[in-house]
Amino acid sequence: MQGSYTLWFEQISIKDIATVGGKNASLGEMYQNLNSQSIKVPNGFATTAEAFWDFVDHNKIRDKINAIILDFKNSNIMAHTASESIQKIILKSEFSPAFKQEILEKYSQLISNNPHGVAIRSSATAEDLPTASFAGQLESFLNINGVENILSTCKKCFASLFTARALSYRASKNLLDQEIAISVGIQSMIRSDLASSGVIFTLDTETGFRKIVTINASWGLGENIVQGKVNPDEYLVFKPLLSNPDFKPIISKYIGRKEIKMIYSSSSANVTNIKTSPDEQKKQVLSDSEILTLARWAEKIENHYQMPMDIEWAKDGSNGELYIVQARPETVQSQNNSNSMQNFSLEKKSAILSQGLAIGSKIISGKAQIIESTADIAKFKEGSILITQITDPDWVPIMKKASGIITNSGGRTSHAAIVSRELGLPVIVGTGSATETIKDGQKITLSCAEGSSGFVYEGILPFKIEEINLDKLKKPKVKIMLNLADPDTCFKWWKLPSEGVGLARIEFIINNIIKIHPMALVKFEKVLDRKARKTIEELTERYVDKKDYFIDKLGQGIAKIAGTSYPNPAIIRFSDFKSNEYARLIGGEFFEPKENNPMLGFRGASRYYSPEYIDGFKLECQAIKYARDILGFKNIAVMIPFCRTIGEAQKVLALLDEFGLERGRDGLQVYMMAEIPSNIILADEFAKLFDGFSIGSNDLTQLTLGVDRDSDKLAEFFDETDPAVLASIRTLITQAHKHGTQVGICGQAPSDKIEFAEFLINSGIDSISLNPDSVPKILLELEKKSLVLN
Ligand code: PEP
Ligand code: MG
Repeated sequence: MQGSYTLWFEQISIKDIATVGGKNASLGEMYQNLNSQSIKVPNGFATTAEAFWDFVDHNKIRDKINAIILDFKNSNIMAHTASESIQKIILKSEFSPAFKQEILEKYSQLISNNPHGVAIRSSATAEDLPTASFAGQLESFLNINGVENILSTCKKCFASLFTARALSYRASKNLLDQEIAISVGIQSMIRSDLASSGVIFTLDTETGFRKIVTINASWGLGENIVQGKVNPDEYLVFKPLLSNPDFKPIISKYIGRKEIKMIYSSSSANVTNIKTSPDEQKKQVLSDSEILTLARWAEKIENHYQMPMDIEWAKDGSNGELYIVQARPETVQSQNNSNSMQNFSLEKKSAILSQGLAIGSKIISGKAQIIESTADIAKFKEGSILITQITDPDWVPIMKKASGIITNSGGRTSHAAIVSRELGLPVIVGTGSATETIKDGQKITLSCAEGSSGFVYEGILPFKIEEINLDKLKKPKVKIMLNLADPDTCFKWWKLPSEGVGLARIEFIINNIIKIHPMALVKFEKVLDRKARKTIEELTERYVDKKDYFIDKLGQGIAKIAGTSYPNPAIIRFSDFKSNEYARLIGGEFFEPKENNPMLGFRGASRYYSPEYIDGFKLECQAIKYARDILGFKNIAVMIPFCRTIGEAQKVLALLDEFGLERGRDGLQVYMMAEIPSNIILADEFAKLFDGFSIGSNDLTQLTLGVDRDSDKLAEFFDETDPAVLASIRTLITQAHKHGTQVGICGQAPSDKIEFAEFLINSGIDSISLNPDSVPKILLELEKKSLVLN
């Protein structure tokens, strides 16, 4: 039987799962095929299923084991009792002399090339199937040295097929009847105890977005990440731009706390956890070029296996090299192949407790929790429905924990409403009195599924969720684009049929991720508040020049949004905070004027060339350049909001040239928001200066009708379908098209009002940018109105 008990990795391929289990088959496959593509996989060998069965038969224990498993299956004994009995039998058994000799021969050959000890891992022959990963079910042992230890560890691996955990897992997957063998992989150790290690997924783990590689990294051996014991670094890399050596498409870097690391020890456990130093905790574990190398390897591995993969990597501190030490199919997102979205409807109604404007289209029921101010955010119970006076972007942390939100004030185009929409939360704003009519702790149902009004009903009501098959949606007679703002949630919409991002509001990135006023980074000495100075120092501590913090974070946030639509265009709008909103950013009060009417004040284009903000605008331009030229997102176009006069337009275009964003160079398109009546009146002139207009129907309606868009009192007059607004839009389209200038829309109206979308299409608009959650509903309505292509 010599030679059939063990196989070198180079003798193994993925076809050998039945012989050496999924983990070892995958290691062999990579060792054989990917080393030639410069992916380093440490060498090793695996024991075969035959070796396991011979071990069982040599010791005459097969019937005993099967009888115990049957007892467990028939619920006569508990998993842990079955486990203890079987493990005792295995650990008392002996290896046959032939098996022992083969293991020892290969082991001595292996350590003659790499003396750093071996990792010994178990691999079941039913393991790493796309539907049953067995992840974490079987035992692994690290840093094993010496003949006796190798043999005893192999036996422990055999026994680990029968831990209580593994037996219960097999029961849950209906695998108890199947005779599963176990193979042991013996692989040269990578000295990641002296460096770092981690995990890679070849997709976005939360949304299943396939264009992303997610890399986790932590100091020392990888076990802590796998077991969730550390908060590791996380880097996201954009796959489609990886093959171009000019680009470095790392679109997100999160530096985790990494409080402990696993290193070698001389104790019987061979490894131990120690605390990391403050310096290690703050440091980025991998360099940018290492992140890109691993991402490229991950993409090759995925291409090789033709499926999304879950990969473990390690960096050897003794030679500084990176290695792949494991790879298996990803088992969650890759199984979700549905191309569908949900539609909610109530099955029963009860007394209405409160009513306002619906944001989103979902229904949720649960316990209400009233929170009066952000000071009480910590009291909020995850999963409750938040009832409050008003939400502004400061509430985002709590919004992310809430299952729904109801506010007394606020309008549909408020920025808080926009965030909620992106979070996919059902929200009702502008109820006037929800904090009084709903009691703290009361059970309620919040419905946003009944059109533009949102209702809060008493009690927990039944509702239905219907899946809409996106494949069945017909292509409309106009380009559909998406309004996006939050880089944290934008990947969620990757399945939607759209031809790009029609509006990315960067205020959200500045508010929620950067948090600091750009001028406070340019002129830090002007920030006189001690607390603000301290927070700025903390947030920017990894940057020598504080301005780079802004450029980095904004550039990456923009790239994530542009990545969602890549290679279709993503129109990124320069900042359009009002002065009162800018003032709320950290350090903002030292740079912002106090205005009586900020909505008509120091906002949009007027800021960019002003001495007070020009340096801040330059940072915005540098962030766009970083996203386009370094990260590689040439699909980014830019847009100027709130541009009052032709003179302003010219000044801002000249500044774009000066700051390296010349219109037309390298395909850069420059758009302008059409949202002030002057933009319509002089459309003929503006059209000559830009590649396109995007109608801001929120501001255009406000300024055409003279109605404050945020006023609850005037809500009934805020009507985008007013003949004056419609006439303006018709004029704009006619004038723009005379010059070959495109016209789109990114205001709220077409997401809410199908008649308005119909009017736009009939008026010859080139594209409509919708809130992502409205897309399926609007496409279905357009089909009913025969406004789709056949
Ligand atoms: C608008 O005014 O319609 C628009 C899209 O811009 P914002 O809502 O951000 O002002
Ligand atoms: Mg606007």
